[in-house]
Amino acid sequence: MLMNMKQLLKVAQENHFAVPAFNTSSNMILKGVMEACHEKQAPVIIAIHPDELSFVGDSFVASVIEEAYKSDVPVVIHLDHGATFEQIVHAIRCGFTSVMIDASQMPFEDNVAITKKVVETAHAVNVSVEAELGTIGKTGNDVEPSANKIIYTDPALAKEFVEKTSVDTLAIAIGTAHGIYPKNMKPKLRLDLLKVLRDTINIPLVLHGGSSNPDDEIAESVKIGISKINISSDIKEAFYRKCREVLQDPFIREPNEIYPPCIKAMKEVIYHKIDLFNDADKVKFYK
Ligand SMILES: [Zn+2]
Repeated sequence: MLMNMKQLLKVAQENHFAVPAFNTSSNMILKGVMEACHEKQAPVIIAIHPDELSFVGDSFVASVIEEAYKSDVPVVIHLDHGATFEQIVHAIRCGFTSVMIDASQMPFEDNVAITKKVVETAHAVNVSVEAELGTIGKTGNDVEPSANKIIYTDPALAKEFVEKTSVDTLAIAIGTAHGIYPKNMKPKLRLDLLKVLRDTINIPLVLHGGSSNPDDEIAESVKIGISKINISSDIKEAFYRKCREVLQDPFIREPNEIYPPCIKAMKEVIYHKIDLFNDADKVKFYK
């Protein structure tokens, strides 16, 4: 079941669950994500970053679309951190049903201007748009634009931004960072700020950098009203840790021998995220 983000997250917001957006840039990861979400009857977002897209090529999007149509699970194909208008148009042409324009590093007025332009273009073909306000921290092992210092999202500016751009969903900065946190870095979410943001604007809110935050904080953020959580590092870490282990055997070379245990290890993490986000068994709301 292929749909856009606005359709997907309207239901999530009404029913107090968050849909995971898993960064997916190989057929093996796609297979594991789709299997796990079908088993858990959990709606899902397949997120592809422009760097991931240029690696896998446009034909990969065609196979995601095929998987989405075959599945009984609601699926959104989302461009993660689009940086330019050209990347956005390219993604729409490939068949993405949702795009993110991330101009959060730009001055407020410039962020408004480019987001507005993207919204006008995307909405013309029923594609939804995510933007970002504030900056999400970085941990040094991610490919996405992020800042060394987190600039928290200002609620009054967020309200103005949503009104001026008509954006469908908003990524907010409340203390997460992209990637896996180093041992000396303790992530702490500003849940008080999230409450204020939730009361100030009414579109679905998105949490980036959701890997390796404490589970109880993430669960609480879902209760308060986060509707989409991005997960990239956590599933890749599980997948490739198992790959390294399997490949210790110098004689193994068949993909259908190497990958099944890796997919299985990754699926365990996916099940956990789905339960944590209260996303299990929510397909029923879309029937
Ligand atoms: Zn992100």
